[in-house]
Amino acid sequence: MTKATRMTKQKRVILDVLKSTKSHPPADWIYMQARKELPNLSLGTVYRNLNILKDMGEILELNYGSTLSRYDGNPQEHYHFVCEKCGAVLDVDIPIQKELDMLAAQALETEIKHHRLEFYGTCRKCKAAGPQS
Ligand SMILES: [Zn+2]
Ligand SMILES: [Zn+2]
Repeated sequence: MTKATRMTKQKRVILDVLKSTKSHPPADWIYMQARKELPNLSLGTVYRNLNILKDMGEILELNYGSTLSRYDGNPQEHYHFVCEKCGAVLDVDIPIQKELDMLAAQALETEIKHHRLEFYGTCRKCKAAGPQS
């Protein structure tokens, strides 16, 4: 472990839970899964470790203006799609559009560090289950 912050058993289990899913789960789902491994775990500990893992750059915290944060085991910059029907958060497998940073930099005559972009619509599952299909 080369990182300054120690990787405790709790962190390792929480990270493993998060890396094992692509569903971008909220903290309480991670808590339920991690408890199978660590029965004495508390929800507060899960939140605390999620924050530390975020600061370590191991995970991403996603916040789309809804009440609950969701977490991503993939810390690389990538885009997300949010289903407006079921609330699913899906990875959008397209390259980060660096041109947007350049366009914004030109418009503002300054430097852009990064940008946030989210896609919204109805996911494939909801579309298939919809009344019009
Ligand atoms: Zn959906
Ligand atoms: Zn993601």
